[in-house]
Amino acid sequence: MTGLRGREIVAHIPEVDHVFGVGQWQALASLVRGQEVILGQAPDWEPVPFDIPAQTAPLLPGPSAYLKISDGCNAPCTFCIIPQIKGRFASVSAGRLVEEARTLVRAGAKEIVLVAQDSTAYGEDLGQRDGLPDLLCLLCREVDGLAWLRVMYAYPGRVSPRLIEAMATLPQVVPYLDVPLQHGSREVLRRMKRPHNMDIVRRMIEDLRAAMPEIALRTSLITGFPGETEAEFGELLDFVKWARFDRAGVFTYSPQSGTPGAEMDRQVPDIVKRRRYRRLMSLQRQVSARKCAAMVGQTLQVLVEGEKDGLHAGRSYRDAPEVDGVVLFRGHARVGEFANVEITSSTDYDLIGAERSTRKAPLPSGEGWGEGR
Ligand code: SF4
Repeated sequence: MTGLRGREIVAHIPEVDHVFGVGQWQALASLVRGQEVILGQAPDWEPVPFDIPAQTAPLLPGPSAYLKISDGCNAPCTFCIIPQIKGRFASVSAGRLVEEARTLVRAGAKEIVLVAQDSTAYGEDLGQRDGLPDLLCLLCREVDGLAWLRVMYAYPGRVSPRLIEAMATLPQVVPYLDVPLQHGSREVLRRMKRPHNMDIVRRMIEDLRAAMPEIALRTSLITGFPGETEAEFGELLDFVKWARFDRAGVFTYSPQSGTPGAEMDRQVPDIVKRRRYRRLMSLQRQVSARKCAAMVGQTLQVLVEGEKDGLHAGRSYRDAPEVDGVVLFRGHARVGEFANVEITSSTDYDLIGAERSTRKAPLPSGEGWGEGR
C-alpha cells in the first residue's frame, strides 16, 4: 500500500508527514536530518549512517522462525504486483543471515524456515550462481543447535542438481520443498510469463523424488487466469493427478490493477473460477488423503507446538508452519521438544498418532524424518 500509493496517501491525509515503502529504513534517518526523500525513486539523497540496535532476544510465537534471505523480485509474472511494490531482487548477506539464524536459535527456534519471493535466486545479485545450496551448507555448519531447516518458494527452473544434493545430504534440511507452479498448462503459463516447459517441471519433480523418495512437495495453483479454457483447466487437473503433490494451495485468479493480467482479454467469470477451484480442491483432497493414509504405521519426528489436556499438536517434516497439516497425538513431550510419534490414523490433511519417546535434539545423520529415509 505504501509502496504503490504513498504519494496519494500523503496528498490526501494531512496528518501523514511521510510514507515509506518497503526497505526504505535508511530514508528515515535522512528525513530526520532534513533531506528530501522522494518515495519510489532511486535515492538521490545521501544515506545517513545510523545504528539499528542489535536484536538480542526476539520473542518467538513458537519453536519455529522465519528467516528472510532476500526481498524483491525480478520475475515478470503477469498476475503479480509484488515486483512493483518490493522492487528489484536483493539478497541479504550470508554473514548477516548466519547471525540472524544464531539469534533465532538462541531464542528457542528449533526450526528455521527460509523465505523470499524466490529463494532459489539467492545470491544472484551478489554475483553468485546457484547460491542457495551454499547458503544451506553454511547455515547447517555455522548455526549450532539448529534442528530443522526448511526451504520455501523455489522457482521452477532454478531447482538445480546442487540444490537437490544439498537437500538430500544435509541432515538439518528437511526433505520438503515448496515450488509455486501456478498452473499445469503450457499456454496458461506462457500467458502468466512463468516457466512453461512442462517437461522441465516434470523432470524437476522426478529428480527431487529420486534423490529423496520421502520428500513432501508443496505447490500453489491458480484457477481462472484470463483465457483459461476448459481444456487448459483439464491439463491442470491431469498434471495434479500426475504430480501427486503432498500439499497444494489453490486460489481463484484475482485481477490486480497495475498488472498485465488485469488488462488481458477473455477474463474468466467468477462463477467459473470458483467451480474450477472446487474441482481442483476436491482432486487435491483425494491425493492428500491417500498420501496421509500411506503414513499410517510410520514413526515420524514431530516438533511439538501446542498441548492441552495431554493432547499434543505438532508438525513433522511434511508440514510447514501455518500452511500445512498437523500431527495430533497423546504423549508427554513439551512444547518446543521433538517427539517420535507412531502414526495410527489419518484425515484428509492431518495425521493422528501416539508418542513413542521424546527427543530434545535433532537426530544425527539425517535419520528420523520417517522410517525408510
Ligand atoms: S509470483 Fe513470485 S516470482 Fe512471480 S513476480 Fe510475483 S513474487 Fe516474483
